[in-house]
Amino acid sequence: MSEATAEQLDLLLELQATDHRVRRLQHQLDDLVEQQTLEGHRQRVVELGRAHDETRLELERASSDQRRLEREVDVLSERRDAERSRLYDGTVTNQREMQSLEAEIASVERRVAEHEDELLEVLETVEGLEQRLADLDAQRVTEEQRVEEATVARDDAAKGLLAELAELGVVRERQAQGLPEDLLARYDRLAERTGGTGVGKLEHNACTACRLDLSMADINDLLTGPPLATCPQCQRLLVIPA
Ligand SMILES: [Zn+2]
Repeated sequence: MSEATAEQLDLLLELQATDHRVRRLQHQLDDLVEQQTLEGHRQRVVELGRAHDETRLELERASSDQRRLEREVDVLSERRDAERSRLYDGTVTNQREMQSLEAEIASVERRVAEHEDELLEVLETVEGLEQRLADLDAQRVTEEQRVEEATVARDDAAKGLLAELAELGVVRERQAQGLPEDLLARYDRLAERTGGTGVGKLEHNACTACRLDLSMADINDLLTGPPLATCPQCQRLLVIPA
């Protein structure tokens, strides 16, 4: 890494301060009642979407049961009708054969009736699921409306904070432009990994990032070393004042 100038190191500490202010503002935003209300409604939209997907799957299964039962009823009814005509068209004359044909017809009729009962139940299920889907759709429309209203309320409540954040965004960009790319990238990586603080300053024999006192030996090393070092305690960037 190229040697950063004293001005750039000051700028880096200023950028760190900007990032801290941004984080504080973001926490304040998250803590807004209006924000929490909004998130509640957003969460509800997600849950309704999930319930909708599950219900749609159930409906697909029930509809396929319905089609299967309808086909089976058709097949069995055709078979019953064919056997009935055989019974009456005079092709079967033998008494015993007629009796067995009658028994067969009765058995097929029982199975048709069973399938029809089952079909009725499935049709009720399908109807219930279709109703539920319609309800879920309606609830989602209402909830999405609430999200919109809550967004307006949140934006209104957060106006000041958002304006401040926008300003800080401009400041941050200006500060970032004044820094060498590799230094900024190193700071960003550290800040991301350690909860928002990527650089500290040696002050009163301690690192301002981790606030841990350093040993005299460490301090002597740091004071005789380059103006940008690594904190021996927290491994963040450490600016050593001249
Ligand atoms: Zn430290």
